[in-house]
Amino acid sequence: PGLAIGAALMCLAAAARGAEADAIDARIETLLAQMTLAEKVGQLVLYSDPGDVTGPAPQDETQRRKVEFVKSGLIGSMLNVIGVEDVREIQKIAVEDSRLGIPMLFGYDVIHGHKTAFPIPLAEAASWDLALIEKSARIAAIEASAQGLNWTFAPMVDISRDPRWGRVMEGAGEDPFLGAEIAVVRVRGFQGEDLAAPDTIAATLKHFAAYGFAESGKDYNAADIGTVTLFNVVLPPFRKAIERANARVVMNSFNTLNGVPATGDRWLQRDILKGAWGFDGFIVSDWSSGLEMIAHGFAPDAREAARLAILAGSDVDMESDIYKRYLEGLAADGAAPMEMIDDAVRRVLRVKFELGLFDDPYRYLDAAREKKALSEPAHRELALKIAERSIVLLKNEGEILPLRAHDSIALIGALAADKDTPLGNWRAQAEFGSAVSVREAFEAAGVDFEYEEGAALEVGQANFADEVLVNTSDRSGFDAAVEAAGRADKVVIVLGEDAMQSGEGRSRAHLGFPGVQQDLLEAVCEANQNVILVVMSGRPLVLSWAAENVPAIVQAWHLGHEAGTAITNVLTGAYNPSGKLPMTFPRAGGQIPIYYNHLNTGRPGPREEVFWSHYIDESNAPLYPFGHGLSYTTFSYSRLSVRQRGENIEISVRVRNDGQVAGEETVQLYMRDRTASVSRPVRELKGFRKIELRPGESRRITFSLTKEELGFYNQRGEYVVEPGTFDFFVGGSSAATLTTSLNYRV
Ligand code: BGC
Repeated sequence: PGLAIGAALMCLAAAARGAEADAIDARIETLLAQMTLAEKVGQLVLYSDPGDVTGPAPQDETQRRKVEFVKSGLIGSMLNVIGVEDVREIQKIAVEDSRLGIPMLFGYDVIHGHKTAFPIPLAEAASWDLALIEKSARIAAIEASAQGLNWTFAPMVDISRDPRWGRVMEGAGEDPFLGAEIAVVRVRGFQGEDLAAPDTIAATLKHFAAYGFAESGKDYNAADIGTVTLFNVVLPPFRKAIERANARVVMNSFNTLNGVPATGDRWLQRDILKGAWGFDGFIVSDWSSGLEMIAHGFAPDAREAARLAILAGSDVDMESDIYKRYLEGLAADGAAPMEMIDDAVRRVLRVKFELGLFDDPYRYLDAAREKKALSEPAHRELALKIAERSIVLLKNEGEILPLRAHDSIALIGALAADKDTPLGNWRAQAEFGSAVSVREAFEAAGVDFEYEEGAALEVGQANFADEVLVNTSDRSGFDAAVEAAGRADKVVIVLGEDAMQSGEGRSRAHLGFPGVQQDLLEAVCEANQNVILVVMSGRPLVLSWAAENVPAIVQAWHLGHEAGTAITNVLTGAYNPSGKLPMTFPRAGGQIPIYYNHLNTGRPGPREEVFWSHYIDESNAPLYPFGHGLSYTTFSYSRLSVRQRGENIEISVRVRNDGQVAGEETVQLYMRDRTASVSRPVRELKGFRKIELRPGESRRITFSLTKEELGFYNQRGEYVVEPGTFDFFVGGSSAATLTTSLNYRV
């Protein structure tokens, strides 16, 4: 009876949702019928500031234009307007002074926290902690909405196998399964349970599609990939976040995919996203990506770019001005079908209705809430918790870590005292220089240490216009650092990238430490053998020298406001590290793209023939594989079993904490489909479970895979399930050796 009641309640809830959607549809139609063509086009226009696109203008003129455009209903949404007061001023004009009073969307890049900086998304992915990642997005939404925002351009769900691409910091790494699970919880966190609640914001999945496959890792570059990779690797996070979390917006992309700019790609946007997947939210272009179609050699001029974009299903134009200038004319000439424009407007209005903006456009705008939400201590506590879980212990030889209470430490490196870099790129409203540094946290924890900078990290302006960031070549601080290292029991050296050395437009061809940091590391290692290297970076760096010469390596990314405390807690053992890599760490840049779920070649291993698939000067293996991460305890895996139950497969394993301290382990399940109609990856992640075990405790973990989950997209992009032999691997990384197999029959 319990089940029956549950099912009945679910039916009622679905019916209520259906009724709500119908009511919204009816309101949309009523409104649409009253709109002029100019007002319709207005809903498809997103500006940060009209002054930007209408040419340079003095401040008061820009302001005048903004007011005039909003009043005339010629802008439907704005980006980068933040704060209750500013948002209210514009929303009031839209709602009270424009003819139809249509409220506006206010969008912003709320990527990893808003006022409170959480770890960069790649770091959060290393926690493999879905509940915490959801909370992080929830808090970001609470803070952002309190500042009048109702729309975020996040999460970025681009899968990438290329750490040269600076935007890997913004994603969840290389794996489509992990990426999709994280995409789902991020969207849920932003959008909450009810989009109409005052503390939720509409989420945007970006960038559709294949932006993370930029050739040679160079941002904005062409992506050229086949159907099998597109459907099995690139698209799943988008699809699952729409199906399972109802993401309301999708952003298209700057890049061409197989020769067609994403913004003008009708197949991607109309056929797949809106057609096959039934997506009913709206698509926003990326910043001026419509206009970029001219440089791509796809549109001859701006008018044609507007036509191609609307035909392809790009609903809202961000910043390029092409819809505002040409869409009316195109519609009047019959070059842009009215049904397409109406469809785009409906989609935008739908999201506005769902956000509750038509019912109360000012409900977000509460100055008292704004103040309170931005200074909530609980938000910082969560930032610390997730920062700790995002840290990955890559290496710990001779158990040099955790530090012992009586160890004297030389703390070295500019990043150890840096209060800004941990905030990372895309830090929204986090104040410059407001993170806790490692140095401060060492002081607070009473660590016995002396600090030496050794070398400054970088000099030069870090903005988009910079082609190359100038790194300092100043070695004048080396001697003092080496002396301090010589005096101490152990050295903690913090090296890596400045906040602005990863992110958009920050591709790198050399993945070592910028500047003279490598030389500093080598000099310090000569003075003291007991070196602990802490790496702050927005991407996997090539750490091969350190892996060979340094006993301990801690991957600490850009961890947000509580970075220093989280790192200190890991170093001292106050927190036992549990992070696992969401991206493969290469041995050499020449191995890139390197990723665990690759296909086999026809020559997979060293046989008698010399020409097996390999490099003559480097091993095939990564430095640290996907899923890798150590703990201060060790976990053992045993008794792996697999069986078919009906159409499902159950895989079960025993995990035991063999060490002296409690710890968290991420149990990972990988699968291989041995023979199929297209060659399948050597392993693919199919499930994971983060568990906590006391010393000596063991637990049986069972994964269940449905028939559906055994399938894949074939060469024609069709999803197929093919029975046959499947291998399963379970363990603490993608290099897990415990394996079993099953002949699956239907
Ligand atoms: C980025 C987007 C971002 C947009 C707005 C673009 O340059 O590619 O991801 O949302 O700017 O800031």
